[in-house]
Amino acid sequence: MNSVPFEMGPIRPVDEADSLLIRTTRGCPWNRCSFCTLYKNMKFSLRSVTEVKKDIMAAKEYFNGHPFETCFLQDGDSFVMGTKNLIEILETLRIAFPSLKRISSYGRAQTMIKKTSSDMKDIFEAGLNKLYCGMESGSALVLEKVKKGITPESIIKSARMAKEAGMDTTQFIILGLGGKHLSKLHAIETAKVLNEINPDYIRLLTIGVKPGSGLDSQIAKGEFVLPSETHMISEQRLLLERLEGIKSHYANHHSVDLLLEVRGSLPTDKDRMLAILDRFLSLSEADKINFILGRRLGYYRRLSDIKNDLQYRIVEKQVQKIRRTDSDSFEQVFHDLRRQVI
Ligand code: SF4
Repeated sequence: MNSVPFEMGPIRPVDEADSLLIRTTRGCPWNRCSFCTLYKNMKFSLRSVTEVKKDIMAAKEYFNGHPFETCFLQDGDSFVMGTKNLIEILETLRIAFPSLKRISSYGRAQTMIKKTSSDMKDIFEAGLNKLYCGMESGSALVLEKVKKGITPESIIKSARMAKEAGMDTTQFIILGLGGKHLSKLHAIETAKVLNEINPDYIRLLTIGVKPGSGLDSQIAKGEFVLPSETHMISEQRLLLERLEGIKSHYANHHSVDLLLEVRGSLPTDKDRMLAILDRFLSLSEADKINFILGRRLGYYRRLSDIKNDLQYRIVEKQVQKIRRTDSDSFEQVFHDLRRQVI
């Protein structure tokens, strides 16, 4: 139940923690991705312009002059709205909250490409200047296997349309989404697409499979094999190494990501970021397990924290406990811990 006098959806991107949240749609118009349970039990619906405008006015009264600089339009895809309706909502928002500098939304490639370039330009001029796009992978095969419903071509086309209109774009990539078998293809093809579109921001998210998702049952049937934590760092290394000729900000920025310090601007920080991944990959097996467990349990924040002897010993006690129970279960433990933070 909402504790505010206007409707709010269940999620927002990490970067929108301080934003005003206005709900334009309920749920996701696609709702079929095998890794996603976000809107699983929610029927998709468009909200009417009248309803959303009423919410904007209720939020204005509720926040009583709070000078919001950013606003995020919930839920899954505001581009399913008719262009005129979306523009009317954006204009109302900017009048009600004149301090807004940024209005953002999720944008689904397959929906965005149904707009014309002039629609995109009009939407940008009405105020929508930032998009979060879940491309997840640049590999057609991986996208098809996880039922993402988008293609590398539609990702590239929609990202170009957004860019040409003047919008900032963030592309989300899921590490491990190709499983163990398509890991290399996932990294290489994702880098190719990112190189084509040169997004403003690239955000990594390490896979954690939600119970009840399609992918979860595929794992149970042996149809999808999760890569190990180390495998996913190698995958990331390959992806990062292949990013060429772009000027994006690249970041592991969600607590589910193992090496949060791998973040920076491309191309300037590429070598520094690769060096961090290499430092992890060159650890002994015992140190890798110690670091991953310590990081996942919250003892470590950065790779260098492993040099703290006291913390290392504390984590090692936990490592030994797991070893005594079942020395093969580390990856399962790591995955369980990842699932708790997504
Ligand atoms: S990942 Fe995005 S597009 Fe896919 S079902 Fe979830 S919200 Fe919808």
